[in-house]
Amino acid sequence: MTSDLLLHNTLTRRKEKFEPVNPPHVGMYVCGPTVYGDPHLGHARPAITFDVLFRYLQHLGYKVRYVRNITDVGHLENDADAGEDKVAKKARLEQLEPMEVVQHYTVRYHQAMDRLNVKRPSIEPHASGHIIEQVAMVQQILDNGFAYESKGSVYFDVLKYNQQHPYGKLSGRSVEEMLSNTRELDGQDEKRNGFDFALWKKAQPEHIMRWPSPWSDGFPGWHMECSAMGARYLGETFDIHGGGMDLVFPHHEAEIAQSVAAHGKEAVRYWLHNNMITINGQKMGKSLGNFITLEEFFNGTHPKLEKAYSPMNIRFFVLQAHYRGTVDFSNEALQAADKGYRRLMEALKTVTLLKPSDKSDSDVNALKNKCYEAINDDLNTPQLIAHLFEAVRVVNSVNDGHEKLTADDIKNLTETLQLFVTDILGLSDETQSAGDTALVEGLMETILALRKEARARKDWASSDLIRDQLKAVGIQVKDTKDGVVWSRE
Ligand code: ZN
Repeated sequence: MTSDLLLHNTLTRRKEKFEPVNPPHVGMYVCGPTVYGDPHLGHARPAITFDVLFRYLQHLGYKVRYVRNITDVGHLENDADAGEDKVAKKARLEQLEPMEVVQHYTVRYHQAMDRLNVKRPSIEPHASGHIIEQVAMVQQILDNGFAYESKGSVYFDVLKYNQQHPYGKLSGRSVEEMLSNTRELDGQDEKRNGFDFALWKKAQPEHIMRWPSPWSDGFPGWHMECSAMGARYLGETFDIHGGGMDLVFPHHEAEIAQSVAAHGKEAVRYWLHNNMITINGQKMGKSLGNFITLEEFFNGTHPKLEKAYSPMNIRFFVLQAHYRGTVDFSNEALQAADKGYRRLMEALKTVTLLKPSDKSDSDVNALKNKCYEAINDDLNTPQLIAHLFEAVRVVNSVNDGHEKLTADDIKNLTETLQLFVTDILGLSDETQSAGDTALVEGLMETILALRKEARARKDWASSDLIRDQLKAVGIQVKDTKDGVVWSRE
């Protein structure tokens, strides 16, 4: 099977024709979320980017095995080889078992991704469930001479590796440059060089997430999990590895080195990286006060948000940019995206109601081909959306009687819109449910006004009746110092 799909390979820095190792099967691995906090806007972008690729590869007829891991161990503070494990820290602060933290935020992540209409991957392995595979791979790297043990920990020997294989090829760095940029070690350090990275860390006595190994009771280094689980589920060589650009170095660079050191060959054919989302031109961060969770977007509860933004509004906003370009969040940009999204949804309904003519004024096939060209060009979703808006223009023009289309062309246009908007871009119609939401809010306003009036008359029986009836349909009413608030259970 061949396709015209071109993907930009970070490794070669150019677009390459996509040809899987073992067609019709495609193996795709994407670095998944860390699970010690609520999912935020930064989680939405890789999830949506690789969801579109997953959907499109399936549309092309490939049997895709999509693996996206859950990073629940070994992610230390500051992404370095030192500091506290972030899951363990959260568990300590909230007096929870680490797996309670992991479960809680994994569920939160799934809920947010479901609302964004992101398809679940084929396999979602946890790092903590694959310690055996990781220990075996560390042992293999040690046996092959590319790692060393030091005080119960195991480190990757970057200099040794670099003598045989170029380290830094993915990120475009060189070891010489790294040597001049890293500080001199003081001799107390466990590492031989500052840029060596941990494959296994000996656990300090207070460290609660620990497993036995030949070297110490400890835990795997962060980069190990993706190499080990990729090989476990996709084989020693597979097609696509994706993630955010912030993972290129050191995470993915380390993954390449680990695979070569353990198996003697590179694991990945195409490395794909999505760019970041900034907020009003700034990186998102807790300390900057612009850290907005997806829940806050959906509810409009963050002070930087002028209103609530629906999941499809966010999805369309992300898709309006090419995945390798930056996206800057602002209220204006999101509101503009909402208008565009609604125009598409409107056209999807209108196109089914068009009256056929005996001739066509527009070339629907050419339009459909342009849509394919756009998505084949390294998933150029903004270009695809531009073509879809041209389709919307045709739909509205025919609907208004300014243009004509034959029955066959109307059918073709309907299928093209459904294929690209619904199936590939994954935009579902929530305009209906948005109408329902407005209705519920209007009704609640009326009911609460009646309750307020009853209370003013000291008619407690009516007031209680209203509260109890609402409770029966799953709506909770609370009196706070700021007034009455209600929520669905
Ligand atoms: Zn990873």
